[in-house]
Amino acid sequence: MTIATSLFARHALLPDGWQDDVRIQWDGAGAITAVKAGVQQQAGEAAAGLVLPGMVNLHSHAFQRALGGLTETAGAGPDSFWTWRDLMYRFARHITPEHIEAIAAQLFSECLRHGYTSVCEFHYVQRDPQGQMYARPAETAERVVAAAAATGMGLTMLPVLYSFSGFGEQPLKPEQKRFRTGPAEVMQVIEALEGLRGPQLEVGVAPHSLRAASAAMIGEVLGSLPQARPVHIHIAEQQGEVEQSLAATGQRPVRHLMEQFEIGPRWCLVHATHLDEGETRALAASGAVAGLCPTTEANLGDGLFPLSPYLAAGGRFGIGSDSHISQSAVEELRWLEYGQRLLHQRRNVAASPAQRRVGDFLWQSALQGGALAAGRPVGALAVGKRADLVVLDSEHPNLAAISPEDVLGTFVFCGNDNLVSDVMVGGRWMVRGGRHVAQDAIAQRYRDAIAQLRTLRS
Ligand code: ZN
Repeated sequence: MTIATSLFARHALLPDGWQDDVRIQWDGAGAITAVKAGVQQQAGEAAAGLVLPGMVNLHSHAFQRALGGLTETAGAGPDSFWTWRDLMYRFARHITPEHIEAIAAQLFSECLRHGYTSVCEFHYVQRDPQGQMYARPAETAERVVAAAAATGMGLTMLPVLYSFSGFGEQPLKPEQKRFRTGPAEVMQVIEALEGLRGPQLEVGVAPHSLRAASAAMIGEVLGSLPQARPVHIHIAEQQGEVEQSLAATGQRPVRHLMEQFEIGPRWCLVHATHLDEGETRALAASGAVAGLCPTTEANLGDGLFPLSPYLAAGGRFGIGSDSHISQSAVEELRWLEYGQRLLHQRRNVAASPAQRRVGDFLWQSALQGGALAAGRPVGALAVGKRADLVVLDSEHPNLAAISPEDVLGTFVFCGNDNLVSDVMVGGRWMVRGGRHVAQDAIAQRYRDAIAQLRTLRS
């Protein structure tokens, strides 16, 4: 692997917009030490045409990558999120730690090739197939950490608190036995991961949802966790969940959460699809991040997030690939915007008076929200941040003779070719010429794992 400490970019997207002739320098630990525009390329210095900060994928269940495309057959009755979930449970029944590592490595290599350089892993398969904790409490979590280290992906691990099957502390179903954790088990896993924290890894926590964790339990875990750590929760993904929350608590889920906890920038509310006007304003004002997963939300028939009023109220958002029906940052952003165009029957929704270019608005906003949700110094080409960057293929016809201002509009909206050529994470090139540096070995291990899983499932 080539060790370099600087890159010259003809055009680079910096926090204040596109700049020409930019030198980005980083230290041996992979942190950016200088960014300067209007400089001359030095002899022998590596150069690139178009450079963007790498994207944050703020919501992942890595093992679900192996289920992609296998749940697209209509059942006897109407299919829904809940029927999909039954299929996912069946799939999770036999998966081993080795499978989890192989699948996560494949997923992370794909995400890197499509411009993601950080992932937040919402990790809930924590027990063995019999429902017992592994001898090492963080056994499966450590496999995801190993996959991230092997592929170069920046990671925020979020061990999940998962105790009930529904509002009102309903007992878990037998098919949920591999997910069961109380506050003590979650803290055991977090403590086991603490020693692995570093520039490439942060550890937070994820109460699964208000369905699966009580307020008392969430409070107990938060009380044991250092203040700055990220907290993620699934919320208001389905209309059915809103109805169950109203029946059990008299309040809609986001309102209920906000009344019980001090929701602020350390929180990521994943989906938050079904918000009324008051919840939309309150969530925006809280400074928390809405974790939007447009391809999964479309695939599962969740609904559309009220993006326009949320942005008008100053709300923050980031994107995640969740079930990994797509591994492309571009596809998430494109569908986020297209859902809104179809809903409102107008164009160019995700923009602001200060940033009218939709591609730029989406990329920069998702970087800021994603970095906050990851709890890591990422999301910008700026001093102190990680040297996480994406080089686009300047030779691609879509980018021929293009001005930098039109690059993100083209990248996000035009065609399905992957325009990502090279990807650096923490100062190390992990993707070169469109291929992950260990792509073949990772894919072979994935194919072997999937073949074995198929025999276990049948
Ligand atoms: Zn999820």
